[in-house]
Amino acid sequence: MEYIVHNSLYLPDYLINERVAATEDNVKLLTRFNSLYELQKQIGSNVLSVGDPSQYFCRFCSRNSSQTSFSNFHHFITESISENETQTYLECDDCEESYLQKQDAQLAKYLGCYRALDQVITKNGLVNHETRTSSAKILQDKGGIGIHNVDSENYDATTGVFSVRSERVYRPAMVYQALSRIGYQMLDNDEIPSFRITREWLSITQNMSRFKLPLVIIFSRLKNGNRYRYVTATLYKRKDSHLMEPIPEKVLIVHAAKYQFQIFLPYAGSDIVKDYKGGNNEQYGIPMLPASLADNYTLEIIKDMSSFDLIHEVQNFDLVPNPGMKPIISRPLP
Ligand SMILES: [Zn+2]
Repeated sequence: MEYIVHNSLYLPDYLINERVAATEDNVKLLTRFNSLYELQKQIGSNVLSVGDPSQYFCRFCSRNSSQTSFSNFHHFITESISENETQTYLECDDCEESYLQKQDAQLAKYLGCYRALDQVITKNGLVNHETRTSSAKILQDKGGIGIHNVDSENYDATTGVFSVRSERVYRPAMVYQALSRIGYQMLDNDEIPSFRITREWLSITQNMSRFKLPLVIIFSRLKNGNRYRYVTATLYKRKDSHLMEPIPEKVLIVHAAKYQFQIFLPYAGSDIVKDYKGGNNEQYGIPMLPASLADNYTLEIIKDMSSFDLIHEVQNFDLVPNPGMKPIISRPLP
């Protein structure tokens, strides 16, 4: 991805090279974000890894290669949301297998049928999707994507829009952990002590009640045929001039396929406000980076991650096939 310096902020080229007109709202969001944050680190474009391969060290259990094993290739950004070449030397095999992997799996579950519909390439290739409660299926067929067993009344041939009843069953707190893990590993070594609680929270697998969780995930999905050219993770830090502002110190943006995830890294030692859930406009309370300057993305804000046991289910998607996808739609047998 090309990064362009724009008003002293490094921005992905997609954001400012749009041929489509920018909207006033997006410009407003960008200007605000721009005034409060600066780029700290970016992985996935020029730099592909975090950590030091000559000196393995696990940031989750604080063990080195003489104390535990680091023999597997650990993707820094999980391939379940898009294939990529990023790698981390900051996770040992133990931590990866006992909980980090499980968090990544929840991130994929959060995307649900989007991964199939958007033809996301994962470590296992293209994904199919079967709904749990109906016979509808999204299958990668030769020459296109197949949406099978859709009721005729759910398909509008004129607009090409069809509705699929599909569930996304996922644990929001673990989705947040999967993203936070990425941001936590992008911190500088000398910042780690002030993210001690972040580390503790990242390694718990149940009973989160002792943690107050003011967590919000801002999820955007590009419309039509647009997708991000590279899989990247970008860490922004609050400018020193805004140290006392009630905004989070670290903001993480992850781009993969058609998706932009935005979170703030929780439990930063310097954060003044501990509950970003307050207020009526959470997405504006937390400075939001628009997924594009044009009006070509859909937005979803996930709140309330107070428990691992809370499971979200989202149903009834309206789907517009991408141009060139040639959807093959089959009807259920009478
Ligand atoms: Zn470890």
